[in-house]
Amino acid sequence: MRVLAIDGPAGAGKSTVARLVADRLGIPFLDTGAMFRAVAVTAAARGVDPADGDAVARLATAIAIEVDGDRTTVDGSDVSAEIRTAGANRIVSIVARHAGVRDVLRTLQREWMASRGAGVVEGRDISTVVFPDACLKVFLTASAQERAARRVAQSGGDVEEVAAQILERDRLDSTRDVAPLAVAPDAVVIDSTGRPADDIVSEIASLYGKRCGRG
Ligand code: C5P
Repeated sequence: MRVLAIDGPAGAGKSTVARLVADRLGIPFLDTGAMFRAVAVTAAARGVDPADGDAVARLATAIAIEVDGDRTTVDGSDVSAEIRTAGANRIVSIVARHAGVRDVLRTLQREWMASRGAGVVEGRDISTVVFPDACLKVFLTASAQERAARRVAQSGGDVEEVAAQILERDRLDSTRDVAPLAVAPDAVVIDSTGRPADDIVSEIASLYGKRCGRG
């Protein structure tokens, strides 16, 4: 399998870059954050406490989550807009820290790749846990200020407030016991601060060609 894994903190440009690289290479793209978000909004809708690991893992097992490009569904219902709300942002990292939830989603992510053979997968633990044998691992980052500014340009809000939220999410994601956000030892670290997305896409596509034998 030719896996291009992209990990990094919130707002580093992973989704934008992953989508564009996938287009450039003509391979599919998977946003794994959308899966965690789908579990989070479903828990909220069904009154399941996001901090209750067993209950959320049971829920994740019971529902059918599908992520296809920008479209995310739970049991066939479109939740693509709902998963991007401030409410989802607030609880997703709580849901994502449970090992039982991660087990379910890791299986889905590996199945997604097994049925496609090649793809760009972005998240937090793709290089370290889900696909440790990926032929290319990228850790995409950017200054906290720029990450907040990008999120505000995308979805609005107050820059100070958004900065505080993404820093809190990064703190939770980096300090959790299971599959924390971390740089894989063999990852290429790319700082996207002040760089146009196209520039980064070209760099990653060229690395993929060299390391994964295509592109
Ligand atoms: O990438 P995105 O911001 O949509 O991810 C939402 C949240 O899902 C992250 O903050 C993190 O808590 C969780 N996540 C994760 N592992 C992944 C992808 C996302 O824990 N592979």
